[in-house]
Amino acid sequence: MKLTKEEFIRDFKDTLHEEQLIKVPDATPAELFTSLAQTVRKYYTPLWLERNRKISENHEKVAYYFSIEFLPGRMLETNLLNLGILDIVKEAFAELNVDFDAVKNAEHDMALGNGGLGRLAAAFMDSLATTGYPGFGNGLRYKYGLFKQRIVDGYQVELPDSWFGSIGNVWETRKDHDTVEVKLFGDVYLQADKDGKLSPVYNNAQILRAVPYDVPQLGYQNDIVNNLRLWDVEIPEEYELDYPTIADRRSVQDITSILYPDDSSYEGKQLRLVQEYFMTSAGLQTIIKSYLKQGLPLEKIHEKVSVHINDTHPAVAPAEFMRLLVDEYRLEWDVAWDVTTKTMSYTNHTILAEALEKWDAELFKKVLPRVYQIILEIDNRFVSDMASDGVAPQIIENTRIVKDGLIHMANLAIIGGYSVNGVAKLHTELLKEDTLRDFYNLYPEKFNNKTNGIVQRRWTQIADQPLSKTIDKWIGSGWRSDIHELRKLNDLVDNPEVLNDFYHVKQEAKARLAAYIKETTGIEVSTDAIFDVQVKRLHAYKRQLLNVLNIIKQYWDLKDNPDKDIVPHVYIFGAKAAPGYHFAKSVIKVINELANLINNDSSLNGKLKVVFLENYNVSLAELIIPAANVSEQISLASKEASGTSNMKFMMTGAITLATLDGANIEIKDEVGSDNIVIFGMDKDDVYRHYERHDYYSRSIYENNPIIRRVVDSFINGTIPNIQGEGTEIYESLITHNDEYFLLEDFTAYVEAQEKIDQLYRNQEQWMRMSLINIANSDKFTSDDTITQYAKEIWQLKN
Ligand SMILES: *Cc1c(COP(=O)(O)O)cnc(C)c1O
Repeated sequence: MKLTKEEFIRDFKDTLHEEQLIKVPDATPAELFTSLAQTVRKYYTPLWLERNRKISENHEKVAYYFSIEFLPGRMLETNLLNLGILDIVKEAFAELNVDFDAVKNAEHDMALGNGGLGRLAAAFMDSLATTGYPGFGNGLRYKYGLFKQRIVDGYQVELPDSWFGSIGNVWETRKDHDTVEVKLFGDVYLQADKDGKLSPVYNNAQILRAVPYDVPQLGYQNDIVNNLRLWDVEIPEEYELDYPTIADRRSVQDITSILYPDDSSYEGKQLRLVQEYFMTSAGLQTIIKSYLKQGLPLEKIHEKVSVHINDTHPAVAPAEFMRLLVDEYRLEWDVAWDVTTKTMSYTNHTILAEALEKWDAELFKKVLPRVYQIILEIDNRFVSDMASDGVAPQIIENTRIVKDGLIHMANLAIIGGYSVNGVAKLHTELLKEDTLRDFYNLYPEKFNNKTNGIVQRRWTQIADQPLSKTIDKWIGSGWRSDIHELRKLNDLVDNPEVLNDFYHVKQEAKARLAAYIKETTGIEVSTDAIFDVQVKRLHAYKRQLLNVLNIIKQYWDLKDNPDKDIVPHVYIFGAKAAPGYHFAKSVIKVINELANLINNDSSLNGKLKVVFLENYNVSLAELIIPAANVSEQISLASKEASGTSNMKFMMTGAITLATLDGANIEIKDEVGSDNIVIFGMDKDDVYRHYERHDYYSRSIYENNPIIRRVVDSFINGTIPNIQGEGTEIYESLITHNDEYFLLEDFTAYVEAQEKIDQLYRNQEQWMRMSLINIANSDKFTSDDTITQYAKEIWQLKN
């Protein structure tokens, strides 16, 4: 949009005066933030209205992205950048003598997600608007996002994230007129109506009101605004008497109260099922209503609507859509089924067995009695169709939805839709040949890959402005709107002046992070050290512990030989553990105590530092990632479906130290093996152990004195204050046979770290590698990922 600094200052002051009754010099950062956001709202509101009008007037096909998590982080800078007024606002604030960063930091992260999955959903919202595709989000308006993490005495402590705070969510708009009702519990039976058709009759159902709050999603400087719809729950006035006590009311409010803080294992809790159904049913109801408003026939809704199921949490969608079409809108079953399977598509995010959702059939029946009947009908028809197609009984048993008293949600999503995608090449291959092999044989045409991506704008233009300006300086600013122009940097990788510029950019980012580390932890780190970073959720398969094992080895090396010539290292961690995940919390405690040991040992001469930064979230990622020299992506091969922090690090010039897992493989393909450090077992090595049952961590431990010394450090008092945690970790590695093969990969990892050390000594060579990484990171823009979804899965037009 076109706006001068003077116009902005006038609008901003007007808003501040009218809404907050205060003048600029007296306002707090939170008040300034609120007024700034309100000003920005006024700018985009006409665009938003126009967008909605055009879509329905032109009968454009819309994709709805259903996700139980969205993790956008802060929205202010993205909204300003995408409106094209970020620089103007910064200049205006300088003129008004207001610290822009303080105002920006007054915004609370919108953290309605755990990690990668929620961040991906938020990235897709941004990229859908930027590419101009009509793609809308559908999720839950949690009152409390992912918990706030504090570290106390080395332990993780979880605090509620009351992100509405005193400001509320300034970006959202409540849409009362789109309120719908959602039914839960009760009994249902079928009764024939006048024309002999069966209709369900509900007894004692709980009827709740779903109220949508819409959050605008602005495209990058293209005047397009899409919509992220988040549902809240309310008690309908006519049923208020059913909830006389505060506890009664709270039981309803619980539905949108908290985000489940675990993304790596399945939680069979009734409340979770209610959350999943609530957002799915409410979303589908309004989608059908707004489609019918256009005067088009329901049997053709798939021509104008796609519903995407992001992981299995909204996988009840095919059954709920059937219920609506058959029960509420009276379509024949076969017609409804045809429409449903042409509307639904599904992304699988994991091959970890413990994360695959399977609901207890009795629980499901109690909570969703009518949907349960419909699932049984879908399952019966599937079984008999398959049998009449001559499919082997064992294959039918493996793929059916209801068996052994459980409802297999992934199976429902696959049978009830037309597309199944994995999120990186390797992941999709594993789905086809292993996890979903039987489905792949039944429906090969449904399977496709869509490698994850990141919003490059947030990780470059917002998170690292000095980097962005340096890119501008050497290749012009065209890359800001067309990220593929970054490839021009490939022509400059032998120019020492360019490399020197990028070196200074990295040093600047390291200095910013070093200041934050000093301020928040008191630890002093040198920007001459290698900043080696592992930030992601804490999970055994991600193998933060492997990183720890190498740090302990380095510690012993320096104790034995204080003069050992190593490049100083700062190992930086950020990670939340699911509150109930004991092992993960023990790893956090051990990292913190190891940090205490190492950071306070003056005999190490500052060559080694360990830093654990608390409360890792999107905003912290924006500070940490641009400062990294080394990106730790060391999951056990086959376990990390894609990873996306690997892409963010690459784009800001870190060298990836990685196993051949997830999208690391595709990063290697882009930069070439000379510009990445790969180590360890690959997926075939891992699967071979599974087939042969021939892994014995104890014999590695007993036969390798270095490993023995490192592992013994957990239990022999080397690291103080970790009695219980040290024992737990020791037992996981030795007694429980090291499920994620850390000991087998240890030696290769140590060698890879030594290689990093060698490479870093040659700064020119290192910066060349770094620049090659930046230059080829365009491959991972979520703008392109979403374009593939839009064209290949949803058949949208932009
Ligand atoms: C990108 C991101 C993730 C995902 O990190 P992975 O290393 O891919 O698991 C998790 N949390 C936050 C805050 C992120 O920004």
